[in-house]
Amino acid sequence: MNKRIYWIEGDGIGPEIWKAARPVIEAALAAENTGINLEWTELLAGDKAVKETGSPLPEETMQTLRTAELAMKGPLGTPVGTGIRSLNVALRQGLDLYACIRPVRHFEGLETPVKHPERVNMVIFRENTEDVYAGVEFAAGTPEARKLITFLREELGVNKVGDAAAVGIKPMTEAGSKRLVRRALRFALDQKQQSLTLVHKGNIMKFTEGAFRQWGYDVAAQEFGDLTCTEKEPVAGRLVVKDRIADAMFQEALLRPEQYQILATPNLNGDYISDALAAQVGGLGLAPGVNMSDTLAFYEATHGTAPTIAGKDKANPGSVILCGALMLEHIGVPKAAERIRNAVSKAIAAKAVTEDLAAQVPGSRTVGCVEFGDIIGANL
Ligand code: NAD
Repeated sequence: MNKRIYWIEGDGIGPEIWKAARPVIEAALAAENTGINLEWTELLAGDKAVKETGSPLPEETMQTLRTAELAMKGPLGTPVGTGIRSLNVALRQGLDLYACIRPVRHFEGLETPVKHPERVNMVIFRENTEDVYAGVEFAAGTPEARKLITFLREELGVNKVGDAAAVGIKPMTEAGSKRLVRRALRFALDQKQQSLTLVHKGNIMKFTEGAFRQWGYDVAAQEFGDLTCTEKEPVAGRLVVKDRIADAMFQEALLRPEQYQILATPNLNGDYISDALAAQVGGLGLAPGVNMSDTLAFYEATHGTAPTIAGKDKANPGSVILCGALMLEHIGVPKAAERIRNAVSKAIAAKAVTEDLAAQVPGSRTVGCVEFGDIIGANL
C-alpha cells in the first residue's frame, strides 16, 4: 500500500535536516515489513518557492494541502516585504489546523534542569486558532484603540480601560474549544491513558478560559460519558478528566509530573507550557510537533531556520526525525515509531551528538547533521 506524504523542504537548515531525516524514517518503516510505502511528493513554500514561482506560499501548494491527509515541513523563514506576516500562521489559518499537538518525554543521557526528567511523559493538545492569537489588537493611542475604549465605556459601561491603553480581544468559542478537547479525549482513550487535564485560567477570565474548562467537561460528559469520569467522582477503568489552573499546572509539572498524561489547553497557555515542558526534559532541540485539522496531519520541526549554521552540516535533525515517528504512529505503524525513539536514545547514549546537544551530553563527541542521522539509522 502506498501512502502519499507531501513535504516542504524548508529554508535555512531545511535541506540538510531532510537529508539526514528521510532515510531514517524510510528505514524504520521498512524494518517493520508492513507493505506500506511512503510516496514523497514535494510542495513548494519559502525561499525555494519564491525562486521558482515568485510567491513564498503558492496557491498550488495550498490547493494540494487542502485535500491532503499527510504532510511534513522543515522550518520556514518569515518572508520580509510581502503581505504574509508568517508562513506558518498562513498555513495554520488557511488549512484550519486547529490542534497543535506536542508530545514531551525525556531521552536518557540528556542533562536537564530537573532531577527526574523521566517522570515527564505528556502530550499537549493546544488550541491553535483562537484566543489572544487571533491577532485582534490595537496599538495604544491609535484611533482604533480609542474608538474601542469609547465603545466599551459608552455602550457597555466599562470604565476601567483608560484612554491610553493598548487593547486586544480574546475570542474563544464553544465549537473551537470543544473540537480541540474532543480530539484530545479521543487520543487519550485510544492510548488508554489515565487522565486528561484541562489547563485554564478560568478563575480570572471566567467567560473565556472558564468557559473552556466547562466546555471541556461538557464534551467529555456528553460524547464520552461512559468512558470518562471526573476526579471528584472517579470510576475504575475510566479516563479521569480533571482541570488545573494554568499557574498551578506549571508547579505540578515540576512537582508531580507523573500525575499528568494528556493536557488540553487554550492557545496561549499551550504555547507556554509546551516550551516549558520541553525545556524541563532538555528536549527543546528535539521537540517534534504536529498541527491537525479534521482531514490533515501536518508535521513540523518546531525549531526555526537557524540561519547562522545553515549549510554547515551542524544542524540537529532530531526534531524532523521524531516528527517522522509521530507520523508513522499516525498511519498505524507504532512499532516503527518506537524503533525511531529507541534509536535516538541509543545515539544519545553513545554520546555522539550534534553541537547543540553536546553541552547537554557530558563527555560527548560532536558530529555533523548527516552523521547524527546515520548513527540514529544504524541504531534502528
Ligand atoms: P531558530 O530556531 O532558527 O534558532 C534559535 C537558535 O537555535 C539558534 O541558535 C539556532 O542556531 C539554534 N537551532 C535551531 N534549530 C536548530 C537545529 N535543528 N540544530 C541546531 N541548532 C538549532 O529561531 P530564530 O533564530 O528565532 O528564527 C530564525 C527564522 O526561523 C526566522 O525567520 C523565524 O521566523 C523562523 N522560525 C520558523 C519556525 C517554523 O517554521 N516552525 C519556528 C521558529 C522560527
